[in-house]
Amino acid sequence: MSNLGPTYSTRPVLRVNLKTLKQNYMSLQKLVGKKTKVAASVKADAYGLGAHRVGRTLYGAGCRTFFVATAGEGKIVREAVGDNASIYVLNGPAPRDLTLFFGSQLKPVISSMIQAYAWADATKEVKRPPYSAVHIDTGLNRLGFPDDEFEKLVTNKKLFDRLKVDHVMSHLACAPDKTSPFNREQLQKFRKQSSRLPVLPLSFSNSAGIYLGDAYHFQLVRPGISLYGGIATDDPSQEVSQPVVSLMAPVLQLRYLQTGDKLGYNSTFVAKTEMLIAIVGAGYADGIPVIWSSSDEGAVGHATLQKRRVPILGRVSMDLTALDVTGLKKKPRIGDWAEFLGDNLESDAHAAKTINYELLTNIGSRVRREYV
Ligand SMILES: *Cc1c(COP(=O)(O)O)cnc(C)c1O
Repeated sequence: MSNLGPTYSTRPVLRVNLKTLKQNYMSLQKLVGKKTKVAASVKADAYGLGAHRVGRTLYGAGCRTFFVATAGEGKIVREAVGDNASIYVLNGPAPRDLTLFFGSQLKPVISSMIQAYAWADATKEVKRPPYSAVHIDTGLNRLGFPDDEFEKLVTNKKLFDRLKVDHVMSHLACAPDKTSPFNREQLQKFRKQSSRLPVLPLSFSNSAGIYLGDAYHFQLVRPGISLYGGIATDDPSQEVSQPVVSLMAPVLQLRYLQTGDKLGYNSTFVAKTEMLIAIVGAGYADGIPVIWSSSDEGAVGHATLQKRRVPILGRVSMDLTALDVTGLKKKPRIGDWAEFLGDNLESDAHAAKTINYELLTNIGSRVRREYV
């Protein structure tokens, strides 16, 4: 094996730059100013980066409020950050998760009267039940109290007191587009509705919302994608965050193709001239989208090797992807690393007809997370 070298691996790696993650947190904190605290959205395993290490790192940067989707995610974050932080569960309470809520002091985000009654009931006999948050719907029509139910909550003081609400939030629908009049509509509604509850802090903005300006910040903001280096708005030039993640795939084998040779499943690519192909160890099971396979019109997806963009050729398969390395100055060596995402996260997402969020959360569990 020695000719393969001691660092040779056949397993793809997600390289997460924790220093840049921390810098992104601090840049956002600087952007919103002292009167607003930056919380972190760490749901879906911190967008695929690994909730434990991300949670710890952000805690180290000063973050004391975290948002997850489910109680199971909350437990992992609690273990990472310790007791001196709030962890809110966006999807709300559920009977089968009560042990997690109480055991890890997770705060449910309550979005309906059904949830309000369920939580009030569940905490009745509990000595020190966690606080909770109220989510007001202001037009997204996803989670959150709709108008009629919010009226019921506001006028039922007894129920409201039992919820021990320590945070009120809402969520924007069109924040990436600064020119959308819907942003202001939602803002006005949030101001009006939240003022009817005697609770602070308020939070309203995800990453994109932060770039809508001070009026959208309140006491707390809840970025996710901006922390992880993804572009959040229609105007990247205004954004302060830097790339954090690269998906690295090792070169496993090199192939010379002669004119007429076919490549990969279904022989979708046929060489028109002599060329050099690198087979790298990452496929759709690792988060390389099948839609990056080359088409009759040419390449769709790319990787970076020797700082050059190299096209994907043929069909992306489960564990492997073929790269055209004919044009590189140096012939790649076995064990060299091809990079996906990184500085090209946005164009990679565009090529896959998807969004940066989905590329990140689709990184497979087989991919080793490496923190630098
Ligand atoms: C996911 C989520 C966020 C973070 O969104 P980004 O666009 O990644 O910043 C904030 N708030 C809520 C309610 C969310 O579901």
